[in-house]
Amino acid sequence: MLALYIHIPFCLQKCRYCNFVSFPVNLENQRDSVPESYIDALCCEIGGYFSKNNGYKYNNNIISTIYVGGGTPSLLSAGQLARIIASVKKVFAVADDAEFTLEANPETYAREKFAAYQALGVNRISLGVQSFRPEYLRYLGRVHSREKAAEALRGAREIFDNVSVDLLSNLPGQTLEQSAADLRTALDFQPRHISCYELTVEHDTPLATEQIAQNELGAEMYLQTKKILEDNGYAQYEISNYAQAGYESKHNLAYWSDEPYLGVGLAAHSYDKANQRRYANTSDLAEYSAGKCIRVTETEDGFNKIMMGLRKNSGIPAAYLDARQKAIAQKLISEELLAWQNNNLCATNRGRLILNQILRELM
Ligand code: SF4
Repeated sequence: MLALYIHIPFCLQKCRYCNFVSFPVNLENQRDSVPESYIDALCCEIGGYFSKNNGYKYNNNIISTIYVGGGTPSLLSAGQLARIIASVKKVFAVADDAEFTLEANPETYAREKFAAYQALGVNRISLGVQSFRPEYLRYLGRVHSREKAAEALRGAREIFDNVSVDLLSNLPGQTLEQSAADLRTALDFQPRHISCYELTVEHDTPLATEQIAQNELGAEMYLQTKKILEDNGYAQYEISNYAQAGYESKHNLAYWSDEPYLGVGLAAHSYDKANQRRYANTSDLAEYSAGKCIRVTETEDGFNKIMMGLRKNSGIPAAYLDARQKAIAQKLISEELLAWQNNNLCATNRGRLILNQILRELM
């Protein structure tokens, strides 16, 4: 089985905290439209797996999940998405029950378009809401309003059974009450899945140039999030991800569980598990749109699977650790930061609060 990621690197505008490979679309000429030259290059790259397999055996794999991410994939017209799907199906076998996610920005919500996505096979929508408070939406540079987020959520829930909401927490000055209110507003729409990430200020973003006061409530906010979501029937299965039973993201679980994946599109990453190799496509848009995806090969870093696996509540098998790491893990177990559960090594509730520190020790 193989997870397929498709990158659409265009957005209505660049958010102030974003360091993803994404570019604002030219609103005057092509609002709600991704350049056709990009779709051509994407379909060409996908088609390339038919005749040449770049050292992979992808053609023998069945696609178990498709994830169209970005950027803002909901800028795609239904016709563009149909072209991409047709290219995928020409080259790969897609499982009948494949999870098929499309990331959406609330501002791009239109009923007919979302219904068309569903008719094309999309069965999961991931809505990037981030906050329901107008001042934080402005601060983050989000293009949508609280009202548009609510309209998109309501509309998406009417069309799709499986809707996920992304929220950000630990925003500068954000209080516990404000964070709880955002969660409760999201819960009003009964999404199947909620991701709640702490805001991290990345280099080379407008936020990085500002003096931002550290929010001292991070740990408390994290525990509050967990409690509110668990009390409402959402189980934590990864440090920032919660789902109603049976609605965990299969695609993201593939990343966190050391499963192989193929990424197509600008700057997309792939993991060829059989040969223990990771690949990245070029992040030069002109180069990519001209049909040169130019893959860079990186050898597998064994630590990656420890780092990803410990984010999951189900943890990692002991076999991932070498003798030195096992000794460090033993010390962390005695400090009640790690624990054995069903033969897997997991972070405890206390450990999850300082997971980065634990990972630095194990590195
Ligand atoms: S919508 Fe997402 S990908 Fe696009 S700029 Fe904002 S955070 Fe980045």
